[in-house]
Amino acid sequence: GVQLLRGQKALVTGASSGIGKATAIALGRAGADVVVNYVSGADQAAQVVERIEAFGVSAYAHEADVSDEDQVVAMVARAVREFGTLDIMVANAGLQRDAAVTDMSLAQWQKVIDVNLTGQFLCAREAAKEFLRRGVVPEVSRAAGKIICMSSVHQVIPWAGHVNYASSKGGVGMLMQTLAQELAPHRVRVNAIAPGAIRTPINRAAWETPQAEADLLKLIPYGRVGDPEDIADAVVAMASDLFDYVVGTTLYVDGGMTLFPGFATGG
Ligand code: NAD
Repeated sequence: GVQLLRGQKALVTGASSGIGKATAIALGRAGADVVVNYVSGADQAAQVVERIEAFGVSAYAHEADVSDEDQVVAMVARAVREFGTLDIMVANAGLQRDAAVTDMSLAQWQKVIDVNLTGQFLCAREAAKEFLRRGVVPEVSRAAGKIICMSSVHQVIPWAGHVNYASSKGGVGMLMQTLAQELAPHRVRVNAIAPGAIRTPINRAAWETPQAEADLLKLIPYGRVGDPEDIADAVVAMASDLFDYVVGTTLYVDGGMTLFPGFATGG
């Protein structure tokens, strides 16, 4: 196939499962060398590395907690050491700790903000340092680097029972836009991808029974639950020079979930 990212160096956080796994594999298929970050599931991360190496590119697994500053600094420093530089940061790691607001502990709130928002800040900051140090290499890409934040439709759709998660993703939206504004003069492109309902471990309860899936489909005009590959393909496109003039945008990859589907049948 067409190798849109030939010779580029990528890092994907939370890449041992779900969207991150599919994204790491798709980046490898597109010709990039890939760091497969994971915090748990070393065996799964090793399998992702094998899948990527089968494309004839380099990959390795790196254990790090994205909410830990020292670990993120060390992770990006190693990527630069092993691959020579970094071109693409996919800040994908995320989690949920759901509770009604009156039952939500500060620990549940803080954990989600730490991983989903602070983790993206740390990963973006460390990647940006390398992008600015190196600058544009025209043979590799028209940009000096690409940061892709994994957001969610809950960047804009409020979500009862998930105030920590929705707040983290709302924050990711402004993190992304502000960094895009700040880094664009350096030719660094920062954008976000906002998935709708994708079949992964994070939301198993929402699709694993036929009744749950039927309820979920009422929210999706396009009539199917998304697959991790739907998001992975969008990341490859957004990281490539096909999207060179796309700066500070959130791309919703959601089968129409953000189209207020309840109004399709409204008077
Ligand atoms: P997932 O649970 O399979 O993937 C999340 C990954 O992040 C896991 O591999 C997990 O180990 C990792 N992770 C968690 N804490 C971490 C930490 N501190 N450091 C490093 N890695 C850590 O679920 P997913 O659906 O693939 O989620 C990936 C991203 O997509 C998340 O940011 C999630 O919010 C977002 N998202 C998912 C959906 C969906 O429907 N599945 C929808 C919108 C957004």
